[in-house]
Amino acid sequence: MSKEIFPIYSSPCGWNAMLPKRTPRSPLQSDLTVDYAIVGAGYTGLAIARRLRELDPQASIAVFEASSVGEGSSARNSGFTGSEVLPRTATLAGAEKARRQTALMRESFDWLKGMIADAGIECELQKVGSIRAAATEAGEASLRQVVEVAKANGISHTVLGRNEIAERIGSDYYRFGIYLNDTYLLQPAALIRGLADSLPDGIDLYENTAVQRLKRNGGGWELLTDGGVVRARSVALANNGFIRRFGYLKLRMTTIFTYAAVTCPVPEADLGHLGQSPAWGLLPSHRLGTTLRRIGRDRLMVRSLYAHEHEVPVEEASAKLRDRFVRRWPGLGHVDLEYVWGGATAFTMNGAPWWGKLDDGLFASGGCNGSGIAKGTMLGRHLAELMLGTGDPARVSGAMGTASLIAPEPFRSIGFQIVSAIESRKAGLEA
Ligand SMILES: Cc1cc2nc3c(=O)[nH]c(=O)nc-3n(C[C@H](O)[C@H](O)[C@H](O)COP(=O)(O)OP(=O)(O)OC[C@H]3O[C@@H](n4cnc5c(N)ncnc54)[C@H](O)[C@@H]3O)c2cc1C
Repeated sequence: MSKEIFPIYSSPCGWNAMLPKRTPRSPLQSDLTVDYAIVGAGYTGLAIARRLRELDPQASIAVFEASSVGEGSSARNSGFTGSEVLPRTATLAGAEKARRQTALMRESFDWLKGMIADAGIECELQKVGSIRAAATEAGEASLRQVVEVAKANGISHTVLGRNEIAERIGSDYYRFGIYLNDTYLLQPAALIRGLADSLPDGIDLYENTAVQRLKRNGGGWELLTDGGVVRARSVALANNGFIRRFGYLKLRMTTIFTYAAVTCPVPEADLGHLGQSPAWGLLPSHRLGTTLRRIGRDRLMVRSLYAHEHEVPVEEASAKLRDRFVRRWPGLGHVDLEYVWGGATAFTMNGAPWWGKLDDGLFASGGCNGSGIAKGTMLGRHLAELMLGTGDPARVSGAMGTASLIAPEPFRSIGFQIVSAIESRKAGLEA
């Protein structure tokens, strides 16, 4: 595990770079006393803050973000979201659990859409749908199981063959797919920036303010930052895999970096290579597979690769992402990648998040497992309710489960190397 207290990236977030410059809120510069302190201004942290505000309007609430909003993982992702839960490894045995998760997600996703509409956040939110696609026989077999779960749970979908996928995305790389109607695509940096910039009065956000340490103080907690000490009655840790830096949940989650790139604009004469759909998104059938998106008229996004606890050099990520792009669109080999970046996600052994109370007045939600726009919002909303002693925590933990134990180091790193070597071989052309 690296020693950094928060993720420090070697390259800026491409989605953020595509937006006009934003001035971050000032860092903390003196000691502060608040009712609620939240560590991390991603989807989870901002949802906690808003829900606390809704339920306890007189309370003082402060959010501390180590970097600037638009440079964290909440901006570095692929921008696929929605409320329908249909895991990549879905089976009929898990169909009922997926339905319960969907019910939870639906309420929170509607809440998120309400915030976007009320604040007029221009994040290109569009119900485009998504294609789950397989390039291999094994990938097709696993997607056929997903189709059965989609049918059982009444999820609106269409099965696609090679030609239908090729028509939509302009590449005949994939042999089988499912189109899911209910997926939304968005510009993630625009969304998280918009959510931060439209926080209601009574929530103070401090950017470039890393919480270095946590200490119990009487009935509450002290958060140590370079700019001052924060005293709070109740604290929420919403810094995903970096919760472990405070000594908690070390055996529940691990940080995995994954990579994304956006191409330069594709020349007008080559736009036919991007398919007939003006907007589309494609998710892989294998966990080490590649996510793809058409962005605007003339760019593509490619997301792939995994690294345990440490980033890989950006040149290496760039070369590998380029290989994935050109394998799918050999006719676009002359188009360069304009932006390449990595992002931290928190993985758990069984795919469930860790959500709940760590100690008196100390709460946490982390372990996004690579999907956190809607899920982080949902878990954050319910964590705020738990902090206030309201809501139905059993409903959340019952539907979502809880992160199981994970091996300590060095076995964890060794295990990651072995599993990723085996899975890479299995993924084959899905990567
Ligand atoms: C390349 C990539 C593609 C992805 N694609 C998707 C997708 O398509 N759809 C989807 O739903 N999800 C996707 N994800 C996952 C998604 O980005 C995460 O699940 C989501 O960001 C989790 O939100 P969060 O608020 O829990 O954590 P984060 O977004 O990680 O926010 C935590 C924040 O805490 C801050 N922090 C950390 N330590 C400290 C500290 N000590 N003090 C103060 N602040 C601190 C960090 O800087 C960070 O901003 C993807 C992730 C990556 C990297």
